[in-house]
Amino acid sequence: MTIEPIDCEECQEQVHEYLQREVSEDLAVAITAHIANCDHCEEIYNTEDQLNQVIKNACQVETPEQVIARIRQHIAELG
Ligand SMILES: [Zn+2]
Repeated sequence: MTIEPIDCEECQEQVHEYLQREVSEDLAVAITAHIANCDHCEEIYNTEDQLNQVIKNACQVETPEQVIARIRQHIAELG
């Protein structure tokens, strides 16, 4: 099975769906492989992963919109 490599831009576009298990199996493998070799995308992946956890846990103190805005800002600063 040949997995088409993806670039950083595509990885970052898909990472949210990847975390939600909403991508195809081939794309999930490609994203996993990319993250393993790309520190920058790994950091974005980790941030998105934390975002999911924070939304689950922190809704009592902040609205999800506030939390998302804050973490999106963090991602933008990484860019
Ligand atoms: Zn990358």
